[in-house]
Amino acid sequence: MPAKISIENVRLFGVASDVSKLIQGHNVEITKVYFSRETPIEEICEKLGNPDIIIAGSMITYDRELFRRLPRLKAVIRWGVGYDNIILEDATMEGVIVSRLPPYLLNDAVAEQTVALMLSLLRKIPQAHEFVKKGGWRISSNLNEFEQLVGESLEDKVIGFIGLGAIGFRVLELIKPFRPRLILVYDPYVSRDFIRLSGAVAASSIDELLTYSDIITIHAPLTVETEKLLSMEQFKKMKKGVYIINTARGKIIDTDALLWALENGIVKAAALDVFDPEPIPPDHPILKMENVILTPHIAFAASKTCKMMDEYAIEEALRILRGERPLWILNPDVLKRDNLRAKIRVG
Ligand code: NAD
Repeated sequence: MPAKISIENVRLFGVASDVSKLIQGHNVEITKVYFSRETPIEEICEKLGNPDIIIAGSMITYDRELFRRLPRLKAVIRWGVGYDNIILEDATMEGVIVSRLPPYLLNDAVAEQTVALMLSLLRKIPQAHEFVKKGGWRISSNLNEFEQLVGESLEDKVIGFIGLGAIGFRVLELIKPFRPRLILVYDPYVSRDFIRLSGAVAASSIDELLTYSDIITIHAPLTVETEKLLSMEQFKKMKKGVYIINTARGKIIDTDALLWALENGIVKAAALDVFDPEPIPPDHPILKMENVILTPHIAFAASKTCKMMDEYAIEEALRILRGERPLWILNPDVLKRDNLRAKIRVG
């Protein structure tokens, strides 16, 4: 019987690669499944079809109940880097391996999108595009509208980084040639020396970063510590007219507080690739705000990156099915457990 790999809510899986070639010669079958956050757990399990491996998106939460309802499941592989939707302790207790893709696969793509969003915000590219498309580029057009397209440059800005890991560091490298006035970093888990050698200055607290930054870009993971890290209290401490870019996780920002800050001119404009909730409901007020750029969690989605993500995910799945140690395992303790569901040759 072929092993079953279910691809859960990963719309871009297979878009940039030939999946049939990736599994050629292996006794596996692949099914793509989709459901929403509201889908009842019984229906989720039915659609997943009791798979051996799940290549997972970031939509649903993987917890003990789900693992118990999928007795054949040996591993969940995140088609991405962030794994905040998988409860590692539950997976370990249930003998399920959790793995993800190596961060270096996505760094460049996410960093490029971050810089693109930053420049689009400052130079008002969506507004200029809209202006031309609706026929505004005529001598007789409204001069006031034309004047409003004047943007700002990075050169005189203080750019604040929340998180300086793989993606944050790449963004920092990309923006240095724009000669920003100062790059400030808040990352309690990175040494001051590393920050200094990167050409930045370590903020002694999140408050210091909020107070001095003209642009804030978020590159931290979603954790208990970072959930709603930017809430009302923090927005009130920000410089009036700050720009915000978030390509990390939506839940790091309190959405209602952000709306308030946008409406009250504290945040001049924001660019969000990630949002809370995802997908954004069609009647959400953020969709009507002209000073907000939104992209649908696609910062990673450059074709070369997507192709490599498919290849790495399938290779990791096949490795586990062959009984080899997964390369990108997040819960290595599971390999020592008696109830480990995969037959991995350890040692
Ligand atoms: P990483 O683990 O290399 O870096 C994260 C950095 O955040 C680390 O340096 C860590 O010390 C720091 N950090 C942790 N807690 C912090 C806190 N409380 N305050 C400030 N900094 C803190 O991860 P990465 O590869 O750079 O990715 C960052 C995040 O980007 C991921 O966790 C993921 O959620 C998100 N991401 C989004 C996309 C997308 O398409 N939008 C794609 C990939 C990753």
